[in-house]
Amino acid sequence: MLSYRHAFHAGNHADVLKHLVLVQLIDYLKQKEKPFWVIDTHAGAGLYALDAGHATKLAEHEGGISRLWGRADLPPAVAAYVDTVRPLNARNADGALNAYPGSPWIAWKLLRPEDKLRLFELHTTDIRTLADNFRDGGRQVMVTHGDGLAGLKGLLPPPPKRALALIDPSYETAGDYRNVVKTIEEALKRFATGTYAVWYPILAKPEAKALPEKLKALAAAAGRPWLDATLTVRRQPPGVFGMPGSGMFVINPPWTLEKTLRETLPWLAEALAEDGGAGFTLAAQAD
Ligand code: SAM
Repeated sequence: MLSYRHAFHAGNHADVLKHLVLVQLIDYLKQKEKPFWVIDTHAGAGLYALDAGHATKLAEHEGGISRLWGRADLPPAVAAYVDTVRPLNARNADGALNAYPGSPWIAWKLLRPEDKLRLFELHTTDIRTLADNFRDGGRQVMVTHGDGLAGLKGLLPPPPKRALALIDPSYETAGDYRNVVKTIEEALKRFATGTYAVWYPILAKPEAKALPEKLKALAAAAGRPWLDATLTVRRQPPGVFGMPGSGMFVINPPWTLEKTLRETLPWLAEALAEDGGAGFTLAAQAD
């Protein structure tokens, strides 16, 4: 039984990092004319209201997208990300922010007609909302109710031989961490040149701390380049509940991504800082 609902967290600091990187990855794939697939293994509901329902309970967007919304000094990569949120809010009076796109919606709006989007979601309620949000997706978008990690393996290698997989589990159990590692290992065997972007939480749990190291080892064993970026917004004293930061681990990143993030993350860490514990890390290994 899944208890995680992304609506509680939509637009928070973790979504900012994840979706900013997602925009960069898709923009890079679009630089070549050849079509590609985006596979979103943990799609969520696709679209979120920030002024109603779950999102108002924790109002996590106030520490994320809301801090960027009214600023006129956004660095280019932050501006490119915020631009994916603007169309949903274009008709609001006074430029208010009350709707937020999930990763599938961001990807869909960036794709060209020849590119395809493959979405997986396991939650029985969110899959219905997702399918409804993509009712106009036509043949470009396929929405599947099921396990996204198994689904990903079944799609590799994708027909156009160019693909980005976003792997964004809720990490409700230790098994989620193990399954991500097993899936990446298998995916690299089936389709070594795909771009794999794994979001992970920064938590004191041993399995959370170990995940980026395990992914590094897998990429290195396969001889593939990787990039690991984290964004932290506050200190986390022992015993205090919550997630102070998160990371994006990308296998086969665009060669431009490290420079872009080096120019962007210092600004972002300052913009989203809640206390002196805010910061970022960026590490990468070229092939
Ligand atoms: N990627 C989304 C975004 O950025 O907008 C957010 C996804 S949320 C962090 C994780 C989602 O994965 C939840 O909606 C949860 O129901 C779903 N989920 C959990 N386990 C899953 C699985 N094995 N396969 C597919 N979806 C799963």
